Amino acid sequence: MTATPPGAQDSADRDGTGLVLAGATVVLPTGTVENGRVAVDGTRIAATAPEHARVLDVNGHWVVPGFVDLHNHGGGGASFAGGTAEQVLQGVHTHRLHGTTTVVASAVTGDLDFLARHAGMLAELAQQGEIAGIHFEGPFISPCRKGAHDEQLLRDPDPAEVRKLIDAAHGHARMMTLATELPGGLDSVRLLVEHGVIAAIGHTDATYEQTVEAIDAGATVATHLFNAMPPLGHRSPGPITALLEDERITVELINDGVHLHPAALQLAFHHAGPARVAFITDAMDAAGFGDGRYLLGPLEVDVEDGVARLVEGGSIAGSTLTLDRALKRAVTVDGLAVEDAVAALSANPARLLGLADRVGSLEPGKDADLVVLDAGFDVVGVMRRGAWVVEPRLG
Ligand SMILES: [Zn+2]
Repeated sequence: MTATPPGAQDSADRDGTGLVLAGATVVLPTGTVENGRVAVDGTRIAATAPEHARVLDVNGHWVVPGFVDLHNHGGGGASFAGGTAEQVLQGVHTHRLHGTTTVVASAVTGDLDFLARHAGMLAELAQQGEIAGIHFEGPFISPCRKGAHDEQLLRDPDPAEVRKLIDAAHGHARMMTLATELPGGLDSVRLLVEHGVIAAIGHTDATYEQTVEAIDAGATVATHLFNAMPPLGHRSPGPITALLEDERITVELINDGVHLHPAALQLAFHHAGPARVAFITDAMDAAGFGDGRYLLGPLEVDVEDGVARLVEGGSIAGSTLTLDRALKRAVTVDGLAVEDAVAALSANPARLLGLADRVGSLEPGKDADLVVLDAGFDVVGVMRRGAWVVEPRLG
């Protein structure tokens, strides 16, 4: 694949004459169409081809909506959780090369003042349309289920502190992951909902009953279901059961073959149904980059064979996943229907973020965000807002 360097994508392929992708297998909200056409006019998808549009024959390929990642800490050697604006853009670009045209930048547990300052920087990138907002993962999480978060910096959810982070994000706080069973947890959920921020249950030690309470208080997302929460027991069904059975909840799944056993993924898909699953990367800096030593927030992480683990203690520390690999795995290893896997990468997270009028499906009027895949589900083209990030070289 050929890629344009960061920053160059805005000038590419925008001569105003439009483009038609023809001959593809196109995944639409209404189903999959063989020999389909997708028309692009400027930055948007059009109902009909603009006059004098260039036709690109993508016969033998899939065209699917650009991917939407709800939970992502970085990539390309750069961190969303601690990097400079330039580094964040580098990480964003790396994920775009893999088809993610909409990404929420996830922070990790840190000192509150640091998080507030960092959120201010991320908010500017959100304002510029580079990221789709901020996800705070921690510091209001359970020390019992801390995963790769710094225990010294964990705290009980305090609505005043939650409010401080929401304010620091200048309207771009999209989601906060918290352990809702901790003191102040339910009040914090209510406060988040009041401010239009998604309350996500995660890094939690809650019981089944406590999880039900949090959902009733307004929580709507399960942060990487199964990971960093008590397992499902027959006498203590725990958060997993409560999150799977409630139709108000969207469950995040990290489909990298490391975080979840394939059977656990199937169980979640069957119980939640394909409309309530969002595939996420939970990626850290090594995604799209390589093995080595990295920082996740303040903690050191070693990446070996693509698996990220804390240097101290060995906890899994995020993934090196990109969403194209999550899709390929879902279809070729897990045997999911392409339409269901695609929805879990695009329409479902877009709807959850309140962005479904712009992204998440290939419909006229929406942003021309799309991914061209070969028959083996490898990325050969990525378009964002009508401009190629990765231009397909076909034939
Ligand atoms: Zn995460």
